[in-house]
Amino acid sequence: MDVSRRQFLSIGSAGVLGGSALGFDLTESVRIKQRLRIEGATLSHSLCPYCAVGCSLIAHTKKAANGKTELLHIEGDPDSPVNEGTLCPKGATSLQLAVSRRRVPHPLYRAPGAAEWKQVSWEFALDRLARNIKASRDATFVAQDADGNVVNRCEGVAFAGGAAFSSEEGYLATKLMRGLGLVHLEQQARV
Ligand code: SF4
Repeated sequence: MDVSRRQFLSIGSAGVLGGSALGFDLTESVRIKQRLRIEGATLSHSLCPYCAVGCSLIAHTKKAANGKTELLHIEGDPDSPVNEGTLCPKGATSLQLAVSRRRVPHPLYRAPGAAEWKQVSWEFALDRLARNIKASRDATFVAQDADGNVVNRCEGVAFAGGAAFSSEEGYLATKLMRGLGLVHLEQQARV
């Protein structure tokens, strides 16, 4: 008998009774499933946001004691004809896009010459970024090349996109940077 991975997982305790009909004993599998953190979780179908392959995901969520919905686990959808349950390293760690205990939740600033980082407000950080980008752009903007061709480009600022960029974020960042005249753009698309 052919049993898909999803069917196998959803057999649950009822599967113990029907296990012999499938030709094998599911008792141990059910015992392990009962210990899983995702037991009783709600399954929601979604897509990996990272690239145009469009792998299908299943997100497991559960209401926590405080009433908030908690994202517990993300895995590839075995029923998807695109990825058949598999995910690349980025997709496999997409949980961390939403939930990561290691994420720094506020901007940090190290003043020129300082040894220590200090916590600053978003207003301070964004203002500082804007001022530095404008100063560098003003200082390095090239209106014409050596042959007199109009080029209107900024050669003094480079931009590197992060691996956690979604396709839409990458598009937006490229538009913004090209609008500033940047020619040095790179993207760390996969890790
Ligand atoms: S980043 Fe990886 S998991 Fe996500 S859609 Fe692309 S190939 Fe699939």
